[in-house]
Amino acid sequence: MFHKILIANRGEIACRIIDTCRRLGVATVAVYSDADATARHVALADEAVHIGGPAPRDSYLRGDAIIAAAQTTGAQAIHPGYGFLSENPDFVDAVEAAGLTFIGPSSQAIRAMGLKDAAKALMEKAGVPVVPGYHGAEQDPAHLAGAAEAIGYPVLIKAVAGGGGKGMRLVEAAADFSAALDSAQGEARTAFGNPAVLIEKYIQKPRHIEVQVFGDGTRAVHLYERDCSLQRRHQKVIEEAPAPGMTAEMRAAMGDAAVRAAEAIGYSGAGTVEFIVDGSDGLHPDRFWFMEMNTRLQVEHPVTEAVTGIDLVEWQLRVASGEPLTSRQEDIPLRGHAFEARLYAEDVPAGFLPATGTLTHLHFARGARADTGVRPGDAISPWYDPMIAKIIVHGPTRAIALSKLRAALAATEVAGSVTNLSFLGALARHEGFGAGEVDTGLIGRDLAGLIEAAEPGLAVRALAVLGAAGLADGGPGLSGFALWAPLRRTVTLDGLSATVEVRAAGHAVVTIDGEEADCRLRTGTWWVNDRPAGARVVLTPGTVSVFGPGAYHFDLVDPLDRQADAAGGGLTLSPMPGLVKAVHVAAGQVVSAGDRLAVLEAMKMEHTLTASRDGTVAEVFVAAGTQVEAGAALVRLEEEDAA
Ligand code: ADP
Ligand code: ADP
Ligand code: MG
Repeated sequence: MFHKILIANRGEIACRIIDTCRRLGVATVAVYSDADATARHVALADEAVHIGGPAPRDSYLRGDAIIAAAQTTGAQAIHPGYGFLSENPDFVDAVEAAGLTFIGPSSQAIRAMGLKDAAKALMEKAGVPVVPGYHGAEQDPAHLAGAAEAIGYPVLIKAVAGGGGKGMRLVEAAADFSAALDSAQGEARTAFGNPAVLIEKYIQKPRHIEVQVFGDGTRAVHLYERDCSLQRRHQKVIEEAPAPGMTAEMRAAMGDAAVRAAEAIGYSGAGTVEFIVDGSDGLHPDRFWFMEMNTRLQVEHPVTEAVTGIDLVEWQLRVASGEPLTSRQEDIPLRGHAFEARLYAEDVPAGFLPATGTLTHLHFARGARADTGVRPGDAISPWYDPMIAKIIVHGPTRAIALSKLRAALAATEVAGSVTNLSFLGALARHEGFGAGEVDTGLIGRDLAGLIEAAEPGLAVRALAVLGAAGLADGGPGLSGFALWAPLRRTVTLDGLSATVEVRAAGHAVVTIDGEEADCRLRTGTWWVNDRPAGARVVLTPGTVSVFGPGAYHFDLVDPLDRQADAAGGGLTLSPMPGLVKAVHVAAGQVVSAGDRLAVLEAMKMEHTLTASRDGTVAEVFVAAGTQVEAGAALVRLEEEDAA
């Protein structure tokens, strides 16, 4: 075993790798950017080396600086985590040329799976079923359109160099093909520097089921499947193992195919073979197809750890340090059921818009595993993935594991940024999901209902009002209030106006838009209209948060600010720091509410900014290629007529 390794990553995955190293007595070296000088992964590691500026290309993507850091600290090996350099074969070559060990597969294996078209060709040869489609070299639009016609609509256009759902377009009919091809190629060129695409049959009622594999370069085993069908924008939201409805026959067929894929490239270390499955009529061994292989540890690996009891990072370290794989396929246990929910700083109703902020309050449930890279007081910065934590639960059955997930989400508290916590809670309570009826379209189909289910009810709003009035902590606050303040008070909170009437110590009536909430504090718990609210109120500067189930944040806005806001209603500001990718309007142009004004790239995603009302563009302050700060003015509309 190694005595010291360097972790070329940040955030939760760096922390998670350090945990295993500590258990195995392996010393750790962290690397960090200017933005991460005080980050949790730096604090946890035995040593830390500064490697550059906050932008990934100036730090976490600087292979040379990372290798130099390993050499000066005497680390023997480098663990890449996921993202960043983890699937970069040139980096692997450089690490090995420097006399260090890369904790992961060989550069040849990464290259073999790096491009989706070549990987599919290779898998076909190895006898692994691949999605029907065209993955040849010819990129002429007419040829590709012909291929789409031959495959039959609907089809999916995919960037061969793609990842993270980028450069992918669903095309329903021939008439839309050419425009979709253009935009897929454009996105692929900017994101990956490679415009090549392939065309695939779009599988109906698709389920994303992937198989965890592990090899030692000669032999491979699988550690069963994970179902990752709950996705938005082709990105995973909740993952589980095993897959609902999985049969022994299907599992054996998928496991065999995945092991064949790994052995075909002499795979060493942890990898994931992703399959798309036709779930329109149960699971059948002849209805799954290879999509791609991720040659690294996957974000959702903890669900596999939960059901197998195996520490995948420990296995990675053992195999990389030269130990052979000792487990046989039949030795690998599969026990119970596990879920992982990805908790992000993001604004779900605004279209899953990534958010930033300082986490003024942070609390995770006991009884669940929380893999996180942040502590209370840490910031979610605009530079990296806005993940706050992964919440992982395990139970003897799917139903028990799911109720543990609901409880764990309900007990999670984050203030200082908007999060997807309420949305995750609504998803965990979704009836179809509860019944195991998952497919990749579930979130999209039921988005409105999921967002609505995540809206704050009367009890939550009433508690927020009590919080804003300084009464949420109950008895002492309430009686104090009665002594010095009028018995009846108006409270203005983000989006709602209410009155609070204190009736007695521990008893107040909150009226919001004519609805009355009778709030009574009984042995430390708020009851609203004779039902326990089961919620906690947390005050942080400028905000009242109400937690459990769900997380709701209310700004303590000054009504004057709101007027100023209305006056500036024609101004579109950048919601976060980022790069302006495109500007769709020019001065003098007439726009309608909802029209695209500009596209901003930030936090690995593209965000379309739209007109908030009808009007005429007065000024455009930026051009494609401009780097902007949060709050920068982008586009101004002419003032509306006083009439
Ligand atoms: P996985 O396929 O492991 O589930 P995702 O699909 O969610 O991972 O993420 C896809 C890619 O997004 C990752 O391979 C990585 O390139 C990038 N990514 C995700 N999280 C991070 C992060 N914290 N830092 C850097 N890159 C990340
Ligand atoms: P990425 O490299 O961006 O992760 P993938 O090829 O893994 O790209 O596909 C991402 C997601 O897109 C899948 O998880 C699935 O939801 C959807 N998808 C991919 N291929 C198909 C297909 N042929 N039919 C239907 N959905 C698909
Ligand atoms: Mg994928």
